[in-house]
Amino acid sequence: MAARQSSFRDSVDRMFTHAAGLMSLAPGLEEKIRVCNSTYTVRFGVRLRGQIHTFTGYRSVHSEHMEPVKGGIRYSLDVNQDEVEALAALMTYKCALVEVPFGGSKGGLCIDPRAWNEDELERITRRFTYELSRRNLISPSQNVPAPDMGTGEREMAWMADAYKRLHPDDINAKACVTGKPRHAGGIDGRVEATGRGVQYALREVFRHDDVMKRAGLEGALAGKRVIVQGLGNVGYHAAQFLSCEDKALVTCVIERDGAILNPQGINIDALRGHIRSTGGIKGFVGGEYRENGLGALEEACDILIPAAIESVIHEGNAERIQAKLIIEAANGPVTADADEILKRRGIVIVPDMYANAGGVTVSYFEWVKNLSQISLGRLERRHEEARARLLIEELERISSDTGTNFELARGFKEAFLTGADELELVRSGLDDTMRESFKKMKEVWMSNPKVEDLRTAGYVVAIRRISNVYNSLGL
Ligand code: GLU
Repeated sequence: MAARQSSFRDSVDRMFTHAAGLMSLAPGLEEKIRVCNSTYTVRFGVRLRGQIHTFTGYRSVHSEHMEPVKGGIRYSLDVNQDEVEALAALMTYKCALVEVPFGGSKGGLCIDPRAWNEDELERITRRFTYELSRRNLISPSQNVPAPDMGTGEREMAWMADAYKRLHPDDINAKACVTGKPRHAGGIDGRVEATGRGVQYALREVFRHDDVMKRAGLEGALAGKRVIVQGLGNVGYHAAQFLSCEDKALVTCVIERDGAILNPQGINIDALRGHIRSTGGIKGFVGGEYRENGLGALEEACDILIPAAIESVIHEGNAERIQAKLIIEAANGPVTADADEILKRRGIVIVPDMYANAGGVTVSYFEWVKNLSQISLGRLERRHEEARARLLIEELERISSDTGTNFELARGFKEAFLTGADELELVRSGLDDTMRESFKKMKEVWMSNPKVEDLRTAGYVVAIRRISNVYNSLGL
């Protein structure tokens, strides 16, 4: 593989600077928005297996133009300050683009989560939470972490509990972190939210003929060949929803230990089961195995979904990518150099700050739920059902009084009489967010000839919104 040219951090800054250069921002504002406000590094010790182990963690706050600031906490050996700062910046732009009222932040712990057992991870996580809490880097009103690579509901529940113990008088303590399990204050639909958001984003792209034309695509999602890189939480849900609900063909899945290819479409659940029981994709019978996983990014397909780590599409392979459309389910999977090559080649990229915003969008709903101390739909659901029943009964009365004898379609009555539960409301809010944000990006893309792609358009929308907030702040 060719050397990666620009670091993740450089890539984010370059893309930002390119977009900001097309706008007339007040002097000094561009730099103020671009720079990361602060990064806290902590080294703490935990006594495990008979000795003290020292761990390094980060929490970076990119922009506090809105508070709380928001963003996940990653557990990985690759975590470093540069990466966390780039990810925090992306959170700022992402939140602005999809209009969730947060600034951007990100955290990370330099750890291989597979090297520790559950009890050990819990102790490490609780200790990390204590360090963050001491500096207000976890707080319902100032900084609200969430899951990211290597963390999930379990870690968020530990963090919420650790925070609650430190702040027993805070009635909003649950809102200090999102992505919790439902029994610990979480919200239905958060686990799959990022993957669901990728699906909704793709559906929205397919509603726009002009965008489809630019990508050289036509028709429906059904039957389109999709490559998914990374079958973690985001990649798995995106692949599962697209194949089962939209009937797209996931013809290739790339994982750490190689790739599985099947032109007829891979059974995603079966593959996930295989990974769970064997630790990798090798030996899966539902497709052809290839050892060079990342090489498979270059296979022919309609849609490529990088859903793992940053910089997998770089100057060294961008010329050989055959996809017509790339949808960035991961943060920063395409470097700035690759972005230029792909743009020149006419490949349409649906940028990360939009494509993977489903997670933070549903986090926002969870945070609101926690602050309001009531689950979504609890007050309205039965009322909604009662009104629907009134209408149906009245129609039935008219029908029998007038002898018109109309009949409602099968299933209609039941569906109409069922008020929306939390999951439905979450999906509706997410779908609306994905549709509206895409339209905003597209509008800027299509109406300004200097804006050459969706990513630049996304930055322009985000920067405009952030600068409006800064303009009304007394700096
Ligand atoms: N880690 C996710 C992201 O990168 C979710 C962040 C959140 O929910 O705050 O967008």
